[in-house]
Amino acid sequence: MKLSKDDSSGQTPIPQPDRQSALLLVDPQNDFFPGGALGIPEGNNLISTINSYIQHFSRNGWPILATRDWHPPNHCSFTEQGGPYPTHCVQGSRGAQFHSDLVMPPGMMVISKGTDVKKDARSGFEGSSLADRLEDLEVKTIFLLGPATQDCLTQTVQAACKLGLQVIILKDATGKGLTVDHIKEISQAGIFQASTSDLAISPA
Ligand code: ZN
Repeated sequence: MKLSKDDSSGQTPIPQPDRQSALLLVDPQNDFFPGGALGIPEGNNLISTINSYIQHFSRNGWPILATRDWHPPNHCSFTEQGGPYPTHCVQGSRGAQFHSDLVMPPGMMVISKGTDVKKDARSGFEGSSLADRLEDLEVKTIFLLGPATQDCLTQTVQAACKLGLQVIILKDATGKGLTVDHIKEISQAGIFQASTSDLAISPA
């Protein structure tokens, strides 16, 4: 990482992406955008910023991965099965598709989660190949964004920290559910918040 420890402000500077970084799109699926089963109201405002990050990582040849909720029709997290959520992100449904205004790059890796009918997976790491993929790519730092619910984002950040990854939450491309206060409740070690201006990224 290009980190200068002798920053005169005394604060650790925000890490800048490099070849050991990956962009992680957390569940950028229709059901988490307005009109979807679990849509967050501010979702549509995030799209152009998400595209800016995708473009920046893509141009530099840094890896981009997306998790997706990918549930069987009778998944245990659905209210009909006694779970907490309305039916969402059913495999092959429109709600499970990535938002069509997002410009996904060729070669983007897609990681499915929540595929087991009896188990929910709020974290993108749970029961998925995400940790292995990142290890194969020798990624040390993930830049994370997405419209997903607070649970999914928080648990993904927690799991990443447990694996020893440095996490930068891209706050201008992330649902309001993941607030600074919330982050304070989870391990603060290795977690940063940044926006496009911190990373010198221009709009897509
Ligand atoms: Zn789900």
